[in-house]
Amino acid sequence: MTYQYWNEKIETMPRDDLEKLQLARLKDTVGFALRTPFYQKRLGEAGVKSPDDIRSLADLARIPFTTKHDLRDGFPYGFLAVPREEVVRLHASSGTTGAPTTIYFNAGDIDRWTAYVARCIYGTGCTKSDVFQNMITYGLFTGGLGFHAGGERVGMLVIPSGAGNTTRQFRLMQDFGTTVLHATPSFLLHVESRMREEGVARESLRLKRAFAGAEPYSEDTRRRIEELLHIDVYNSYGLSEMNGPGVAFECQEKKGLHLWEDGYLAEIIDPESCESAAEGQSGELVLTCLCREATPILRYRTRDLTAFYTGPCACGRTHRRIRRITGRSDDMLIINGVNVFPSQIEEVIMAMREVGNNYLIEIEKDGVLDRLSVKIEVTPESFSDDTRPLNALKEKIRRTLQASITINPRVELHESGSLPVSEGKAVRVRDKRPKDV
Ligand code: AMP
Ligand code: ZN
Repeated sequence: MTYQYWNEKIETMPRDDLEKLQLARLKDTVGFALRTPFYQKRLGEAGVKSPDDIRSLADLARIPFTTKHDLRDGFPYGFLAVPREEVVRLHASSGTTGAPTTIYFNAGDIDRWTAYVARCIYGTGCTKSDVFQNMITYGLFTGGLGFHAGGERVGMLVIPSGAGNTTRQFRLMQDFGTTVLHATPSFLLHVESRMREEGVARESLRLKRAFAGAEPYSEDTRRRIEELLHIDVYNSYGLSEMNGPGVAFECQEKKGLHLWEDGYLAEIIDPESCESAAEGQSGELVLTCLCREATPILRYRTRDLTAFYTGPCACGRTHRRIRRITGRSDDMLIINGVNVFPSQIEEVIMAMREVGNNYLIEIEKDGVLDRLSVKIEVTPESFSDDTRPLNALKEKIRRTLQASITINPRVELHESGSLPVSEGKAVRVRDKRPKDV
């Protein structure tokens, strides 16, 4: 196979040189971090008062972890390292409607991020003759604008179609001869079933490959999409705290995702003991962003579970590969690619006085997509045989939940005492999706 590199020197850099580069960038990043109120305190307490206190990559261990909780506490500007006037963009985690984890970028940050996404796209064989349909949510979520900019940087014709509306997606694919797609794996499966339903002939399309990410999926699911759509599917991993897409991506070997170590310093730890996991062992990925000035984030606990591949990759890239993400070490749910914490749902429903004491969150497959149902007990006073007030309440809960978590749940109201009560720790979430990862 012939491989194409976006930046051959960096992508195939000998490990020694790569580590020197990482150390220099880590020191720079610590310098930026020390300008933020959050890290001034956190690093100060750990005895890191200047970038010169970091003398080797081993000194990373002196830096405390940063959690999503810390980011929330630091909202809005606790992690900002540059003057507000220098900031040109912000993004947030999917499923959040505002506050919690906001990341700021200056012009240089956007430029560097775009180059990482371009590196991923180019490494799968894309060129400027490709037509790229970006079927993912635009907006605060990083997947839309991140891939959009990366695609343009490669020189492809980018169609900012956004997610949803399959009929229009087919029309765009046919009208402009789309060759490359980006979507969540579940949306790709949905597209395929709608194609059959609507009688769109595969031969009328020029599809070659797709990038699929934002949610966990198995090797079997990848193969299924590849066979059904006759395309190559590449796994794409990223998170808003580390800019978004462009953190780790499969090369044409499709044996693990190269994590771009010149931009992101990776560790894998045991989520319980927080000790470094043994070589090749599964654990939680911890990332330090080495390519962003406006919002430096050090040793971020991603909560994503993976392991490093050992040994080199046939493509010649020297950046280590991670295995596809198998799950999370916290209770975050990913529903059709959108992050949802059970606590977000609880906050909304428990604030309503009509709501009783018990509720149950259920996620199941509806065809290839995920469906979220929230079953809620109402207080005896609010329960009646008259369905009108109950329907109005149901609609109010549905709307408020949708505004908070950005996805549309199915709401069911139940009489007080009718939902199952678990002995011991309450079971509030039932994830009935098949676990095939
Ligand atoms: P967000 O900050 O909204 O971009 O969400 C990031 C989270 O989405 C990650 O921490 C992962 O849990 C999940 N995620 C993103 N890409 C993948 C992928 N390729 N496989 C599994 N999970 C993913
Ligand atoms: Zn490779």
